[in-house]
Amino acid sequence: MFENAKFVIDSREAFEGCVFVALKGEKTDGHLYVRQALEKGASLAVVERGVDVPKEKLYFVKDTRCFLQQMAAQKLAMYDPRIVGITGSNGKTTTKEMIHHCLGKELAFRNPGNFNTEIGLPLSILNDYHGQPYAILEMAMNKPGDISVLCRIARPHVSVLLNVGTAHRGVAGGEEQILRGKLEIVENMREDGIAVVHNDPRILEKIRDKKFLTFGFYSGDYKLVSYDYEELSTTAHYETPGGKRKVRFSAILNVGQLVNVAAVLAVFDVLGVHPDLSKLESFVPVDGRFKVLKVDDVYVVDDTYNASLESFQTAVETLRKLGKRAYAVVGSIKEQGIYSEQTHRQLGRILEQLDGVLVYSIDREIDHMECSKTILKSDDPQTIVARLKGLLTAGDAVLFKASRAIGMEKVLEMFLGGKKA
Ligand code: ADP
Repeated sequence: MFENAKFVIDSREAFEGCVFVALKGEKTDGHLYVRQALEKGASLAVVERGVDVPKEKLYFVKDTRCFLQQMAAQKLAMYDPRIVGITGSNGKTTTKEMIHHCLGKELAFRNPGNFNTEIGLPLSILNDYHGQPYAILEMAMNKPGDISVLCRIARPHVSVLLNVGTAHRGVAGGEEQILRGKLEIVENMREDGIAVVHNDPRILEKIRDKKFLTFGFYSGDYKLVSYDYEELSTTAHYETPGGKRKVRFSAILNVGQLVNVAAVLAVFDVLGVHPDLSKLESFVPVDGRFKVLKVDDVYVVDDTYNASLESFQTAVETLRKLGKRAYAVVGSIKEQGIYSEQTHRQLGRILEQLDGVLVYSIDREIDHMECSKTILKSDDPQTIVARLKGLLTAGDAVLFKASRAIGMEKVLEMFLGGKKA
């Protein structure tokens, strides 16, 4: 009955012939919008309770969320693709995109953008998966238990655990909880599944009974052993069980991303596919996730999409390697809860490695960030941009980074003033 249906959960996005699924969220209840969805052309609404619309337009289920998840699981079971599940504190999106880029869209499906949650993942599978033989799925967690739900929808043949860091630790309830939650991707893979995990003793200790390969920087079965930048390109050398591999990118990738490429190499070996790695040369980093541009002879790093201590550390290291002098425009790291003060103090220490720091301070969390390299603190993008322009000379590098809620992209856009190269 739902074959080829397109599912919508926001009535404003309903269109002719779609199926509207009424979900109960924290803020509102989709059942209140069934009428609106039908008026916009939805052919049917999946609901948990009666709504004042013609009865034949309603399809009753016990739990609309479970309905979405079961429908997605059934669709996957029908085509039975090889599933690669990817989680970790940093680098999920970029890693997923790299694997997908190498395999190509005829062979591989991937869940787009933020469709990595218990609602987003099933929606993307239902609406966009066309039966490709590989499904490369990013899986996100807020709290322990989340990844298990995602694995019930799409049980991985290959489970990738990139790293366990401090991102969202306020929401997850601390680092122990983050580790526990992320390990679920390994615990819930198929019986004959193989995990590809960061060579981190905290992870290895917990998965002794599983089949796994490790990756890392100078360590693990698949390891990054060196990397170099030239203009806007990167050359990285890896050692793998199959021998040495050299990978070239026509973009600057930071050391964290390059370590994740070691995981990508392991995934291909586990899947037994050997895509042309030279395809990685044309891989374009995703906007806002450490994307490096060269503007007026200055390296400009757009890392405005998200922030954590680990991704700041990685970004700063790379900046030091790139530019003659290294500057950063920074804002708060969100979702740190009771750890916020500690996080921002640690951030201050990381930023000491730079030549100058400009703080975009639109909230109070960043006030805990103390750094002797701070040049200016302002909530006005124009003031920051004017000062920054006065500091920069050819060959320098500047990073724009904060959690997404800060809106650092506004400062970057003003700085670029329409220039993109
Ligand atoms: P996610 O989807 O997990 O949020 P992204 O691919 O969007 O990951 O990257 C988020 C940030 O993490 C970027 O700033 C990126 O440079 C950084 N990053 C990627 N891999 C690593 C890593 N292994 N260690 C630290 N930072 C990393």
